[in-house]
Amino acid sequence: MNPSDNKRKVLMINTGGTIGMRASDQGYRVEPGFLEQQMRSMPEIRTPEMPEFEIQDFVPVIDSAQMTPAHWQKIANRISEHYDAFDSFVVLHGTDSMAYTASALAFMLEGLTKTVILTGSQIPLCQTRNDARDNLITSLLLAGSYDIPEVCIFFGAHLFRGCRATKASVYDFDAFQSPNYLPLGEVGTQIRIFEHRMLQRGDAKFNAASLSPARLGTFRLFPGVSAEVLENLLSQPLEGLVLETYGVGTGPTDNKEFLDVLHRACSRGVVIVSCSQCEHGTVSPRDYAAGTALADAGVVSGVDMTIEAAIAKLHYLFNQNLTSEAIRARIGKSLVGELTPIQTN
Ligand code: ASP
Repeated sequence: MNPSDNKRKVLMINTGGTIGMRASDQGYRVEPGFLEQQMRSMPEIRTPEMPEFEIQDFVPVIDSAQMTPAHWQKIANRISEHYDAFDSFVVLHGTDSMAYTASALAFMLEGLTKTVILTGSQIPLCQTRNDARDNLITSLLLAGSYDIPEVCIFFGAHLFRGCRATKASVYDFDAFQSPNYLPLGEVGTQIRIFEHRMLQRGDAKFNAASLSPARLGTFRLFPGVSAEVLENLLSQPLEGLVLETYGVGTGPTDNKEFLDVLHRACSRGVVIVSCSQCEHGTVSPRDYAAGTALADAGVVSGVDMTIEAAIAKLHYLFNQNLTSEAIRARIGKSLVGELTPIQTN
């Protein structure tokens, strides 16, 4: 686990994002090759303690607001194609949808035994004052020195499990949080990596799963929510829904129409996952009658998953050739450390 003497080979996949953007009349915009051009004038990334690395740009590079599951597949395939030739992987990515991509890759890269780190920045590398340089250098150092068999996000001062992270600030350099799981690493004057918090991997063979997008939605509850609006959303072709419930998983269950809409959708096979509007803590639906009624209608608990992880997990499970019942049964189980298993005694 300690930094090794042998130089590792890191593949850096540049998908785009602020880190490599250039200022224009319309605000920051992506430009092919611009990041690599900037990096050529950084002698510090070629010092002896840095790993060897190669950069491959996405064609085209994109603002992460344009990400789709097809892009997740492209990243997963790129990692898979180069899995044997490189020791670890750094994925440069915009911050806006980074937590979704990290969550999706965590599920798609089955049997991962190498380090995959997503990073980006709030200010582009080309600006005099920026967070891009530190995020880039530290991600490369981490990927080149430590065995972290997970998809992670490194940003600011923290290394997070990717499927536990969420973008929490448009302003701070420490832009991400992992509300329900402690960081895998902390970076200050020293680099501290917490091995005991990492996933324990079995001996499954590495495989980049294929993912065709499921038809999913999210719906945030609020006082006075319309059952009719929800019913429209739940109608065909929707297959899965993340329902953003109150607190420990409650909703307006005195509204019979609302409850009936949910019940009918669940009976048709729509998988409805309850995730809390509170960032910290877990869904525990049977703590209140207003949650028990949702569970009885067929809504399953997303435990303490982030919305990003719940969406990615639904996409992944809908590609596993499972019945809706089997998908529901897997939602509350940890597949890649995306949730904290409920203690049952
Ligand atoms: N809009 C940018 C993106 O997500 C924001 C960023 O990278 O920070 O690509």
